Amino acid sequence: MRVGLGHDTHRLGEGRPLILGGVSIPHDRGLIGHSDADVVLHAVSDALLGAAALGDIGEHYPDTDPQWKGVDSARLLSEVVGLVARAGWSPVNCDLTIHAQSPKLLSFKPAIKASVARLLGLDEGAVNIKAKTGEHVGPIGRAEAIGCDAVILIEQNKVLT
Ligand code: MG
Repeated sequence: MRVGLGHDTHRLGEGRPLILGGVSIPHDRGLIGHSDADVVLHAVSDALLGAAALGDIGEHYPDTDPQWKGVDSARLLSEVVGLVARAGWSPVNCDLTIHAQSPKLLSFKPAIKASVARLLGLDEGAVNIKAKTGEHVGPIGRAEAIGCDAVILIEQNKVLT
């Protein structure tokens, strides 16, 4: 077994959709980035790469490459799952903390959980979503940004062993 840690933060801005964990969330602002700026799936992707000792998403999918402009992060995570599987590993469980002052994420947690579980090929019981505000301090607390921390456990791929 191996464990991996991922983190991401993106700025909030007007005229962008808000997508968290592959789920579109109604909000007056969205996250700014080269891709769809889905902090949740970026943190999950990095945690997975970290667990398999395969670097980070910036190395594999550089934001200077036009190929990844506006890319659906669900596609990016699917690519990472494939990369990690070819290295001989499968996800076991995933624990996430999303840091957002607004919008309130409570009612979106089940959809985010289902989406992350589907992308990782896990049962929903193996994925946990926590949401924290920034207590009105710092860039997250002032609702200038949204962040996410992810921890993933992987095990040696049973198909290959
Ligand atoms: Mg990112």
